[in-house]
Amino acid sequence: MEARDILVHACCGPCSTASIERLLEDGWNPVLYFSNSNIFPQEEAERRYEALLQVAHSYQLQVIHERYDHESWLQSIQGHEMEKEGGLRCEKCFAYNLSQAAAKAQALGFSHFTTTLTVSRFKNSKLIFAVGQQLEGFECIDFKKKGGFEKSVQLSKELGIYRQQYCGCEFSMH
Ligand code: SF4
Repeated sequence: MEARDILVHACCGPCSTASIERLLEDGWNPVLYFSNSNIFPQEEAERRYEALLQVAHSYQLQVIHERYDHESWLQSIQGHEMEKEGGLRCEKCFAYNLSQAAAKAQALGFSHFTTTLTVSRFKNSKLIFAVGQQLEGFECIDFKKKGGFEKSVQLSKELGIYRQQYCGCEFSMH
């Protein structure tokens, strides 16, 4: 691995667009990692993965796909199903996905990893950082800064990719 190689937990195609641009500008070599067992139903996870592949193709980046295991994710948030969005359920959800990314980074020899989750203006970057910093190699990058969210909307429109209407789990469907 090169010093600036970074494994990027990619939650979806739209959030990845602006994150990739920012990482490239900052001199990183991103490899994308799709590990999102929180997404329900599985067909929706596959749809988001397809959008990510379109993004990866346009930037010529590699994507690693993790096995989908929604049952295991459900166990990790057990007891917090009915919390409102942004609460403890989401904190546990971040911890689940970021732990998977940390383990994958370690297994593949990446010294750094991060997540595209901070692009969304609906997500608390400080909470994501607090969870991530408990894991070795996590880089706190706030992708919604420098107009990241607006850029993600614009870039995903330009690419014509699918943009989801809810965060991901069954409890976030409105
Ligand atoms: S609302 Fe989003 S972040 Fe929160 S638990 Fe559901 S999928 Fe995870």
